[in-house]
Amino acid sequence: MHDHRKLGRELDLFDSDPLIGAGLPYWLPDGAVVRHTLEEFVRSLERRAGYKHVCSPVLGKRELYELSGHWSHYSEDMFPPMDLGGEQVVLRPSLCPHHALMFRARPHSYRDLPLRMAELGGMYRAELSGVLGGLSRVRAIQLNDAHVFCTPEQVAEEARAALELVREAHRVLGIKPVRYRLSLPGAGGKYVADPSLWRRSEAVLREVLSDVDYEEAEGEAAFYGPKIDVQIADGAGRESTLSTVQVDFHQPRQFDLHYTGPDGAKHRPVMVHRSVIGSLERVVAHLIELHGGAFPAWLAPTQVVVLPVSESELPRAEEFARSADLRMEVVGPERGSLGARVRAARLVPFQVVIGAREAASGRASVRLRDGGKWEPAPVAEVLARISAAARPGAGDRE
Ligand SMILES: [Zn+2]
Repeated sequence: MHDHRKLGRELDLFDSDPLIGAGLPYWLPDGAVVRHTLEEFVRSLERRAGYKHVCSPVLGKRELYELSGHWSHYSEDMFPPMDLGGEQVVLRPSLCPHHALMFRARPHSYRDLPLRMAELGGMYRAELSGVLGGLSRVRAIQLNDAHVFCTPEQVAEEARAALELVREAHRVLGIKPVRYRLSLPGAGGKYVADPSLWRRSEAVLREVLSDVDYEEAEGEAAFYGPKIDVQIADGAGRESTLSTVQVDFHQPRQFDLHYTGPDGAKHRPVMVHRSVIGSLERVVAHLIELHGGAFPAWLAPTQVVVLPVSESELPRAEEFARSADLRMEVVGPERGSLGARVRAARLVPFQVVIGAREAASGRASVRLRDGGKWEPAPVAEVLARISAAARPGAGDRE
């Protein structure tokens, strides 16, 4: 495996500046393409799984986090509050409190549940500068997050469906987790004290994991409940958590959430917190290392490089590059011999070569980055074939 920090800079995906600060990388155009493509991928996956997307601000008042429990159980990971006009506002350490308030703002019937609220939103963690590096540990995090508000009868099925969604996304992305972990509370005051709440959540998660190989880890739970963590490893074997599924009886009580049941009375919903691909920073760091910069065609910053053999095929090459909704770049003979241009584009999935014969006949031939070749074919046919191979989950050769 490669080191994403080195490759990320070499490939102009991201970088950082001491004046912006440690743990605050910025994304260059090619990195931003990968990130936006992943965002679209996961939103589409979530839409098909019945999630609705929302947007909420990255700040909240200190009182919000006192109510959620973050202030008393999680403040050492939070940025210090900012004084503003007589009140204190905080960069949020998670999205759940905002989503709980959004649920509370409207009345709900049992018929509305499960209500699946998703957001790719910003959150902040006051990591110590010693542990920061590249994209894998950062202070400003863009999280693929969601909260499912459901009845106690629905919670096991919702948590199971969330874990299945995680596994589906990992299959498409080629991510192979190193382990599934049931993260339980440990000693100390980091955790909400209510044994019956912990027992209920743990029972649900053990049920969800009944047909999965998993390990238990004490001291790794969220402060409000146990969680399933899907662990990945980097090239040096360092493990981190990518995806999670959590069952929470605590925050619905703190925020006094309720829905009207079939009996007409008020009932308390359960919250399932889940992240399918984790933070965009960590998942992109992992994908860079996994693929050595040679992203699958659907994620590649440049999907097609179009190479006119000589100056006279340049107009045909430019026409080709405009004729499909793919990320294509024309690299002309002013950038070197055909061989040199092919080598420079070695990470690009499709290299379309247009020589005099192809230009005259309206055809194009394709070289694949693994050395494979497609025979010359009419331009429309070539474009259709590339487009099919550049869909999520497709192999380059399809
Ligand atoms: Zn949450």
